[in-house]
Amino acid sequence: MASVKMAGIAASSGIAIAKAFVLEHPDYSIEKRRVEDTRAEVERFRQAVEQSKAELETIKNKANEELGADKAAIFEAHLLVLADPELIGTVERKIEEEGVNAEYALDAVANDFITIFENMDNEYMKERASDIRDVTKRILGHLLGVSFASPATISEEVIVVADDLTPSDTAQLNRRYVLGFATNIGGRTSHSAIMSRSMEIPAVVGTKTITENVKNGVTVIVDGLAGEVIIDPTEEEIKAYRKKQDDYQKQKAEWKKLVNERTVTADGVHVELGANIGNPNDLEGVLSNGAEAIGLYRTEFLYMGRDQLPSEDEQFEAYKKVLEAMEGKPVVIRTLDIGGDKELPYLDMPQELNPFLGFRAIRLCLERQDIFRTQLRALLRASVYGNLKIMFPMIATLEELRQAKAILAEEKDKLVAEGVAVSQALEIGMMVEIPATAVLADRFAKEVDFFSIGTNDLIQYTLAADRMNERVSYLYQPYHPAILRLVHQVIQAAHKEGKWVGMCGEMAGDETAIPILLGLGLDEFSMSATSILPARSQLRKLSKQIAESHTDAILNLDTAEDVVAYVKKHFQ
Ligand code: PEP
Ligand code: MG
Repeated sequence: MASVKMAGIAASSGIAIAKAFVLEHPDYSIEKRRVEDTRAEVERFRQAVEQSKAELETIKNKANEELGADKAAIFEAHLLVLADPELIGTVERKIEEEGVNAEYALDAVANDFITIFENMDNEYMKERASDIRDVTKRILGHLLGVSFASPATISEEVIVVADDLTPSDTAQLNRRYVLGFATNIGGRTSHSAIMSRSMEIPAVVGTKTITENVKNGVTVIVDGLAGEVIIDPTEEEIKAYRKKQDDYQKQKAEWKKLVNERTVTADGVHVELGANIGNPNDLEGVLSNGAEAIGLYRTEFLYMGRDQLPSEDEQFEAYKKVLEAMEGKPVVIRTLDIGGDKELPYLDMPQELNPFLGFRAIRLCLERQDIFRTQLRALLRASVYGNLKIMFPMIATLEELRQAKAILAEEKDKLVAEGVAVSQALEIGMMVEIPATAVLADRFAKEVDFFSIGTNDLIQYTLAADRMNERVSYLYQPYHPAILRLVHQVIQAAHKEGKWVGMCGEMAGDETAIPILLGLGLDEFSMSATSILPARSQLRKLSKQIAESHTDAILNLDTAEDVVAYVKKHFQ
C-alpha cells in the first residue's frame, strides 16, 4: 500500500521515524441502567478499582524513576483517592441500594464529592477535586473498556499522535521514548509547539485529521522541517528521510561551531541572543546552544503538572538555580502567565468562552495577590544570585503596570526590613503583547526599564486570529505590515527614553524576520534555545547598516506576502 502524506505546521525542526502511539480522548458517555444482580455489579466495580490501583502503582514508580518525586506525587495523591473508603463505599452502597450500574453510580457519587471539595475554603481540599476527577476517569476507563492513555506511561520509542497536546501533556513526554509528535490542532506558537522546540522533539501540528488516518503501531515519519507527516512510508521513503535526518545533523554540527562566539553582525554590531525557557531543566539546552542571556523564563511551568501551588522556597530554589547557572548574564524572569492554553486545574477557575481574552496572567495575579506576592518574594530573594530582570506579562493598562510595580516595591521593602538581601541592580520590565500597549508604548517606556515584545500574542490580538487555531493560521501573519509597524513604534518609543527592547515571541528566531528586526533596531532576540545557533550564523552574515537602509521600504509594503518577497530578494 502506498504511504499517505499529510501537511501540517512545522512546529519543531528535525526528522523522527517511529511507530505511532495514538493518544485518544476516550468516550466516557455514561448511561443509567437497572441492575438485577447488584452483588456482581459491586464486584465489577471493585475489580475496576483494583485494576486502576495496579496501573497507578506502575505509573508512579516509573514517574519516580524517570521524572522525579515531584511529578510522581500526583499519582500518589490518586492512589490515596482510590484508598478512600468514603468515596468507594458510597459508590458501592449506591449500586446496592438503588440497583444501578457501576458507571452511573461512580459518576454520580464522584460529582457530589467534586462539588463538595470545590466549594471548600481550603486550597488543599479544593485541589482534591481534580484528583477525584482524574481517578474517576481512570476507573470509568476500566468499567467501559476504553483505555486511559497517558503520555507519562509511554515506555518504547514512538511518535505521539493526538488531537491536541496540552502543555502539561507535553511536559510529561519522556524525550527518551517520544521521538516526535503530530497533532490535529495547534499552531506554531501554541505552547506545546514551543515546548517541543525546547525539548528538541521534532513536531508537526495542525494537520487537522492525523488521528483519523493513523492507527497505533503504524510507522510514521514526522518531518518537522517541512511540516509534513508520512504515514506508513515505503522502504525508499524511509531511506530518503534517514538521509534528510543525517543532513540535518550535519547542518547542526556546523552551527555548533559558533557556540562560543559572540553574536556580531558583518559590520561589527553586537546583538544579544537570548533563550526562552520553561523550567530549570531547560538550562542544559541554553548552555549547549551558547545563549548570551535568558530573555524569557516562563515561570508558569513551575506551577503546572502538579496539584498545588509551588511554595516560596521551592520557587526561590528554581530561580536561584537559573541565575547561578547563567553566571551574571541577564536573566529575564516573567511572573506567572497562566491562562489561554496554559491551564492550572487546581485553581479551579470557571470555564471561559474566550480564555485568551479572559482572566489570566497579570489580571489573575493582581486579584490573587497571595499567589503574586509569594512569587515576587521568591524572585527578590533570588535576585542576589545573578543578573535578574523581572517582567510582567499581558499588561494592557498603565494602572496594571503601576499596581504590579507597587506590589513588588512593597514586598521588597518588607524583605529589606526583615534583613533579607535584595539586588540593587534589579530591572523591571513588561511584555508588549497587547496592541494597546504597543500603541501607547511612549507612555509605558517612561515607567519601565525595558520592553520585551511578545509577538506570539501580539500577532493573534492584532489580526484577531487565534494562535492555536489551524483554520485561521493563514491570518496569523508575523510579517503583516501592521505588526512590523507596531514593532517599529515600540522600539522607537523605548529608545527615545533610553530603554532597551527585546523580543521573546517566536518571531525573534525566524529567519525571514531577523533581517527586518535587525534593521528596526531590536536590541535583544530571545528564542527557543535550538534556534540560537542558526540565528547567530545568519546574523554574522548580515550588516546592520544595510538592514536599516531597507526599513522604510519594508514598512511601506502592503501585505505580508510582499514583505516575504522583499526579504527574499534583498537578504537571501
Ligand atoms: C508571547 O506572547 O509572544 C510570549 C512570548 O509569551 P507566551 O508565548 O508565553 O504567551
Ligand atoms: Mg504571551
